[in-house]
Amino acid sequence: MAQEDVFKKLVAHCKEYGFVFQSSEIYDGLSAVYDYAQLGVELKNNIKKYWWDSMVKLHENVVGIDSAIFMHPTIWKASGHVDAFNDPLIDNKDSKKRYRADVLIEDLMAKYEAKMDKEVAKAKKKFGESFDEEQFRATNPRVKANKEKMDAVHKRFVDALDKNDLDELKQIIIDNEIACPISGTKNWTDVRQFNLMFSTEMGSTADGSSKIFLRPETAQGIFVNYLNVQKTGRMKIPFGIAQIGKAFRNEIVARQFIFRMREFEQMELQFFVRPGEEMKWFDKWKETRMSWHKALGFDDDKYRFHDHDKLAHYANAATDVEFKFPFGFKEVEGIHSRTDFDLSQHQEFSGKKIQYFDPELNKSYVPYVVETSIGVDRMFLQIMSEAYAEEKIEKEDGKTDERVVLRLPAALAPIKLAVMPLTKKDGLPEKAREIINDLKFDFNCQYDEKDSIGKRYRRQDAIGTPFCVTVDHQSLEDNTVTIRHRDTMEQERIEISKLAEILDSHVSMKSLFKKLK
Ligand code: ATP
Repeated sequence: MAQEDVFKKLVAHCKEYGFVFQSSEIYDGLSAVYDYAQLGVELKNNIKKYWWDSMVKLHENVVGIDSAIFMHPTIWKASGHVDAFNDPLIDNKDSKKRYRADVLIEDLMAKYEAKMDKEVAKAKKKFGESFDEEQFRATNPRVKANKEKMDAVHKRFVDALDKNDLDELKQIIIDNEIACPISGTKNWTDVRQFNLMFSTEMGSTADGSSKIFLRPETAQGIFVNYLNVQKTGRMKIPFGIAQIGKAFRNEIVARQFIFRMREFEQMELQFFVRPGEEMKWFDKWKETRMSWHKALGFDDDKYRFHDHDKLAHYANAATDVEFKFPFGFKEVEGIHSRTDFDLSQHQEFSGKKIQYFDPELNKSYVPYVVETSIGVDRMFLQIMSEAYAEEKIEKEDGKTDERVVLRLPAALAPIKLAVMPLTKKDGLPEKAREIINDLKFDFNCQYDEKDSIGKRYRRQDAIGTPFCVTVDHQSLEDNTVTIRHRDTMEQERIEISKLAEILDSHVSMKSLFKKLK
């Protein structure tokens, strides 16, 4: 199945099974804003818990905060967002559609890359074991031609970004004949800068009110609390402050479902270090974060680091963790070495001394910062797109059947266990509820008595429930049940008293934490 079709099916699945709804749907929706539904919110909370505990619980020197969304407007002046939090936009005059000029160019480069990958895949299939990919890439004329084209675009792109040259960005689009996907024409406007921050008024009267911003990142809430946390928590450098919270960006183009939203959630860590030690910590956090991603059990080749072509004004090193979505490799997390830029700016704009006295060095300095910043919603989409599978299954009578299964990492699944009485009578429902009452304090359980057992299994597969147990007449006699495993569909008879232990070893967060490096 084509990857675009998989993606469409996934979006439909998210709605049909109560994971994600379009915001304000009965009013025809609000562009790039989404609501998490009854199962979606459970998965989202589990992702957040996995991140929070791995940061705050498992690191002695990391603490968390929850700062307000509204902040003093000068903060955004100090951080550079008022002047520089811009994206370059371009309009197609025929379709009247708006695009990010940088994204149009990046998409072109991704097309060249996809062409090269296709050639490599074809050759790999043809030559089998003896295939030498490196040599093939270096010598195959079609791969080489695409690589040259891609490198040429890349060089111009990086130069244009470096010089902030908007005319050159447009020229790259014209010279490479990039067309609007809607109108198919190359009739473009000039490229302009567009500030992504939303603003609103605080205060009751027009005169007495002031313009404030909805935060476009959670990081600044951490920086302006640095001193408070360091003092009250008696924190010693190196130490980190973690935060999960909403952020808002007036994205020019918001497509691809929850990948790019105007209201989204971030999980950010600002790690404060001695000046000069930032590259050591940058490498350490790169490794730690990649291990967090890989512990989820998806294939290693789905991940890669992508170093930034253009460093932000505050950074001296920056890389993205990219994941292979159905629509290609895309950023899920940014890891940045932000120097002392933010704290120094706040020191200057607030007039308050923001420094750390290092007893070992016997001197004061403005700490340097390494940041890890990940989008909850992108993680959600990543996990759902990787988990979604359509499978053909052999039945006992020799016929085949189909199932849709969400192979979610068990620890993140919204429901851990479904309990199903075989029939609605003879005391089986009561026995099933007894099991749930025993387990519900530790695990999310669901009771289901409607339809055939087969249909009930399919429903649970479709929402990613790792285990189902069926309560039958024998259960009343010997306190055993049939447990069915989502991934293998294998069934076995076990004692009810063993259930908690089985669940604990397979579905608790511990199983993920133990894999972390
Ligand atoms: P992009 O280049 O995709 O716009 P970014 O580099 O601007 O992303 P950062 O400012 O580094 O993103 O934000 C950190 C993380 O926050 C991103 O890796 C992403 O997971 C998430 N994020 C950023 N913007 C959005 C958005 N509009 N919708 C959902 N998540 C987002």
